[in-house]
Amino acid sequence: MGKTYYCDYCDRSFKDEVDARKKHLSSMQHITNRASHYNIFKDPETILKEESCKTPCKRYMTVGDCAFGSGCRFSHYTPPMIWELQQLAAMKNSKVLAAQPKDGWPNSEDIIKEYFENVIDSSGTEDFNCLVWNTPSKLIDYPYLPPSLQPVTSERIMDCNFSKWG
Ligand SMILES: [Zn+2]
Ligand SMILES: [Zn+2]
Repeated sequence: MGKTYYCDYCDRSFKDEVDARKKHLSSMQHITNRASHYNIFKDPETILKEESCKTPCKRYMTVGDCAFGSGCRFSHYTPPMIWELQQLAAMKNSKVLAAQPKDGWPNSEDIIKEYFENVIDSSGTEDFNCLVWNTPSKLIDYPYLPPSLQPVTSERIMDCNFSKWG
């Protein structure tokens, strides 16, 4: 059994011979399939730009089909399709704009900077003011406090028997 060559663009496999491969790669069908494959990934703006330089393909507009497919040097885009592309391009642009901070709106970096400036201002030092949890005195006096409510001290942490934990 000889090797076979599989063409992803055309979804076809054939005997892997130099001549056969060359013939296939230069065939109209392959060029067309390849062009339409890449067209899927083009963004609407690029297509619009390209199509605006082309004149409409007479064959495609009258017969509704053209052997050149997306590889045709004439445009296969009808006015409604162009309109759709323009909508797509506009939608894409508005999404890009929405993702950027608007003028006058604080951005996240400013908010973080401001937050830390305030922390330093209020404490008067550069040390972090850690909030210490103090057990209310009522609870400390209560003898039957469940372990989870007992005040955490360094002694209690050292005495912890980790192997008993579930
Ligand atoms: Zn092919
Ligand atoms: Zn055409």
